[in-house]
This record gives sequence, C-alpha cells and structure tokens, in this order.
Amino acid sequence: MSVEKKDLDWGNLSFSYQPTDYSYVSEWRDGAWDEGGLTTDHSITLSECAGIFHYCQEVFEGLKAYTTEDGSIVAFRPDLNAERMHDSAARLEMPPFPKERFIEAVREVVAANAAWVPPYGSGASLYVRPFMIGSGEVIGVAPAPSYHFHILVTPVGPYFKGGLKPIKLKIASYDRAAPHGTGNIKAGLNYAMSLKPTMDAHRTGFAENLYLDSESRTFVEETGGANVLFVTADGTLVVPQSHTDSILPSITRRSLVQVARDLGITVDERPVEWAEVKSGAFVECGLCGTAAVISPVGEIHEGDAVVSFPGGHDEMGPVMTRLRETLTGIQDGALEDKHGWVFKIA
Ligand SMILES: *Cc1c(COP(=O)(O)O)cnc(C)c1O
Repeated sequence: MSVEKKDLDWGNLSFSYQPTDYSYVSEWRDGAWDEGGLTTDHSITLSECAGIFHYCQEVFEGLKAYTTEDGSIVAFRPDLNAERMHDSAARLEMPPFPKERFIEAVREVVAANAAWVPPYGSGASLYVRPFMIGSGEVIGVAPAPSYHFHILVTPVGPYFKGGLKPIKLKIASYDRAAPHGTGNIKAGLNYAMSLKPTMDAHRTGFAENLYLDSESRTFVEETGGANVLFVTADGTLVVPQSHTDSILPSITRRSLVQVARDLGITVDERPVEWAEVKSGAFVECGLCGTAAVISPVGEIHEGDAVVSFPGGHDEMGPVMTRLRETLTGIQDGALEDKHGWVFKIA
C-alpha cells in the first residue's frame, strides 16, 4: 500500500524537529502500563512537581525509519533499542517499557506517519525518538510514582550536511561519565553536562570532544554522542572497551563489528590507551552512531599536539568506507540482510 507523501523538500531537510501527524503515548500508574496508543497531541502537560523536573528521571532512544529500494518502510534493529531502553530505565529506577510493546509501538507510530517517511534515495529518514519521563509528583528524593512513555517521529536530513569530510576532534578537558556511573545508559542527564564541552569544542573549531576514561585519564572512551573506532596499518578494526563500563553500547558499533567479521576483517575489542593513539598506531579513525553511521575523523588534537590519521585524513579511509557502504547497503536492501536486522513496518 502506498500513501500520498507530504509535500516536503525531501532532499533538503535539516536535522531539526517538525511535528508529524501522530505521536505514541503510554502511561504507567498504579504499577502498570496502560494500553497506550497514538495521539495527535504533540505536547505533554505535567505538574510543576513532576519527577523529571527535579531529579531528572529521563531515558531515551534514537532510531531511523526509512524507505528501502523496493519501497518498503523499515527500521533498523528496533529490538536492540527496546533492550537498551529497558536497561537505561532500570538503572534510573524507572519501570521498563516491555520490549515487545516497544517494538510494536515503533511499528504503529511509523506506519501511522507513513506519509512523513522520506522516499528512497533522498538521503533523509524519519527519526524515531522514544523517551520516558518521571511524570508523577515527587518532592523528597525518590523515584516518581508515575511515568510517561512517548515516541515522537520527525523527518530529518543527513546529520552531516556537507557530506563525509573527515572531522577534527579534541581531547576533552572535562569528563563525560563517572566510572561505573551512567555512561552506559542513554539518559538525558549524560547530555546536559556535555553541552558546555561540546559548545567549547565548536567555538574553538572542533566537531566534537573525545573523552578519556575519567578514572585514570588513560583510555579512550567515546565522544558526547558517538562511539569511536580505529583501524591499524594491517587493517584490524580496533574497538575501545571500558574497564569502568562507561561507554554507551552503540547499536551501530555492534552492527559494524559484525559486518567487519562477515567481511573477514579482524576485530580487536579491547581497552585502547590514548598514548597508543598518540604513538601513531592507527591509520583510520571514525565515529559511529545511528545518525551518520560512520563519520570519518581526520585529526585529534590535545593542546598543541596533533594526531593525524594518514589513511583517512582528507577523505574517509578505505576500511571505514567499506564498513559504512556494507552496513548502509544492508539497511537499504541492496545487500543481503543475513542477520535479520531490517525490520519491516509497511
Ligand atoms: C546514542 C549514543 C551513541 C550511538 O548509539 P547508536 O545506537 O549507534 O545510535 C553513542 N554514544 C552515546 C553517548 C550515545 O548517546
């Protein structure tokens, strides 16, 4: 079934919010989630004493729905978003939204907004943002007595408008995540305190900060919103791990690791010292996340010192390019989806 698409300039969308026809809502009260459903109301009315405003109980997810070559509307691995949001909620003493219901809610809200899903080839997608907040009143420090689960969707253009030019990072002088803290969950609280470092980085000509582990300032962790990947001269994909469980488990990263193995690329998942990066051990570097899949990194600065990645300094290097093209090929339906990652919605 095909729907009449909205009259948008699909090739020139920015990465910004515009309301669509429907959002999805469900409420948790008296110990249970209600049946939930679609709504045309894109606002939320809350008490001034709602938990979210005082003790920051909020978790979120981000995934894309898009049109494949054969015209189907699909999402990529929504089961992993469901699982991750479950873990994020549990860490903040929020009632997890059941995984099967999460997937069904994504399906329902995307299908209802089919007219807003950008056509194949536009480079754009329908960004799906599930989130949950403590909505019940709480004044003493405690979990809220009730919760809202909400999914908004909005059509967005490519995250990096200028295409895939390698970006520059700086080593952050701030920390992102405490050891064994909340760095491994997707919560707004991790972003609030990264805004100043991010804006400082932008003001000084950098795209992002690369954070080191805050316990020892020795190991590379990730940026504010993307995991990091390296490639050695012999073509091994090196994926930083955290001793202190403070790296967000990116779905894109986990998918790229599998893609690399499928392509016969050796994958080494281990802690990576910043000193090793500085020593010139890596020829390519990239950031990965849903929005851009892989963004190539050309340089990392630490004060006056510059680490340059010779295999991908002026344009994306060959290994990152191969990984990115393979994953986007699977997503678009041009390559075989042998792991069953592409979830058909309509
Ligand atoms: C969302 C996020 C990522 C990327 O995760 P994906 O599932 O690949 O989109 C990486 N780091 C942080 C801190 C994030 O919040």
